[in-house]
Amino acid sequence: MGVLALEMFPDEVPGVDWIGVTGDFVRVIDEKCDGCACCVRVCLGECFEIHDKKARVRSLARCMECAACWYVCPKEAIIFNWPQGGTGFRTDWG
Ligand code: SF4
Ligand code: SF4
Repeated sequence: MGVLALEMFPDEVPGVDWIGVTGDFVRVIDEKCDGCACCVRVCLGECFEIHDKKARVRSLARCMECAACWYVCPKEAIIFNWPQGGTGFRTDWG
């Protein structure tokens, strides 16, 4: 089966950094997911891919903790939590 993923994120973003090992703070519930790919399209961090008609988290390395994936999922198949304290997305703007 094919894999659908978007790749548009630059390697370096001025004023933005990601700290440490965040943990598994975004997850997909397989049983609820129908593979619609809304999460893939909305995620600017390229965190998801579709494999065998199911979404899966490919990497949270560029997650911006926006929760858009959770918001748009029509099947309520995404669990969003915050990363472990002191880790994750940081910007120079607060
Ligand atoms: S938006 Fe929800 S139902 Fe659609 S592919 Fe992503 S996790 Fe699955
Ligand atoms: S919280 Fe935002 S950046 Fe992180 S996986 Fe969801 S849509 Fe992508």
